[in-house]
Amino acid sequence: MYLYADNAATTKMSRTAIEAMLPFLDGVYGNPSSLHSCGQKAKEALEDARDRIARCLNASPREITFTSGGSESDNQAILTAAALGAKKGKRHVVSTAFEHHAVLHTLKKLERQGFAVTLLDVAPNGLVTPEQAAAAIREDTCLVTVMAANNEIGTVQPIVEIGAVCREKGVLFHTDAVQAAGHLPLDAAAQHFDLLSLSAHKFHGPKGCGVLFARRGVTPERLIEGGAQERGRRAGTENVAAAVGMAAALEEAVRDMAPTAARLTALRDRLIDGLRRIPYSALNGDRSARLPGNVNFCFEGIEGESLLLLLDDKGIAASSGSACTSGSLDPSHVLLAIGRPHEVAHGSLRLSLGEDADEAQIDYLIRAVSETVAYLRGMSPLWHDLENGRRPHVLAR
Ligand SMILES: *Cc1c(COP(=O)(O)O)cnc(C)c1O
Repeated sequence: MYLYADNAATTKMSRTAIEAMLPFLDGVYGNPSSLHSCGQKAKEALEDARDRIARCLNASPREITFTSGGSESDNQAILTAAALGAKKGKRHVVSTAFEHHAVLHTLKKLERQGFAVTLLDVAPNGLVTPEQAAAAIREDTCLVTVMAANNEIGTVQPIVEIGAVCREKGVLFHTDAVQAAGHLPLDAAAQHFDLLSLSAHKFHGPKGCGVLFARRGVTPERLIEGGAQERGRRAGTENVAAAVGMAAALEEAVRDMAPTAARLTALRDRLIDGLRRIPYSALNGDRSARLPGNVNFCFEGIEGESLLLLLDDKGIAASSGSACTSGSLDPSHVLLAIGRPHEVAHGSLRLSLGEDADEAQIDYLIRAVSETVAYLRGMSPLWHDLENGRRPHVLAR
């Protein structure tokens, strides 16, 4: 059995998206800026993709800018709001401690330029509140940026309420909706966000392609200098095939959203119930305010990396919050932000389900994870100390 349970890292492209792209990889290769008909065909396809993506977000096509992905969109959204703020002498930004690094590292950059940043504390259930956001907004706040759903623990933030607070206080609101797109409703007319980031490869589209939504009146600040593509907001020859694939994938995800979410939520809860039976384990993040396919657990007395490698041998692709794989010994900033101690945060496992998951796969996951955790604990001196009472347990049995 091969079971890909790492859909929060990236997803398999949908057949529909691949087929939509093929004509633009093979036949219609023109540059959308060229005036001949081959170029103009590419231009038409690009604008059609923009229209369709705008419709999925209940936005206007003029509010859609194509980017290279979620990271670029996050950078551009934040730097745009900061530049607009600086013009009015407003140099304060509100965010949260568990954002994606594309947000956190951009905020660090702003701090080096003299901006002040307030990071809201995240509660142990992985949520921030609109009241926290309201209390953090100051006279000189130019931006609030809060992710719609967390990429590690899957918790879904109250972005509708936070957006309403921002609108009332006249502060720009950005949301990194990379994990939410295709899973949760995003509606530019009904919800208040000024800037929003999407990434195609998180909803079965191609990698290296994303969207920055910027509400009418908020003009994205150029990050890349060059030609006048994207109405001067993003230089560089457009990736036409990717934009077309992204539009097809987003339409498909949005069309099937409600039934898919219902089915995945049931499977997710079955997986949570199964893994909870492992002694000294704990679910990370709120049980219900979470993405339909996200399960994230801590297991005491084990290393996340060892668990991942043994699961890989059993044909399971998963992810761990601890960051040894990414070249750092620090455990996940997300798990630390929700108050998990270092030693527990190292033993975390994220399983993010795909639309093709079924009950047999869930039961296989539960069995494989339970056996592997028991096996690793059997070999762990740390676990023996915990069992013999030489060290106190951190998690409840
Ligand atoms: C994946 C991800 C990103 C980065 O998107 P890329 O397209 O890979 O650059 C940003 N934010 C969140 C929440 C993500 O999950």
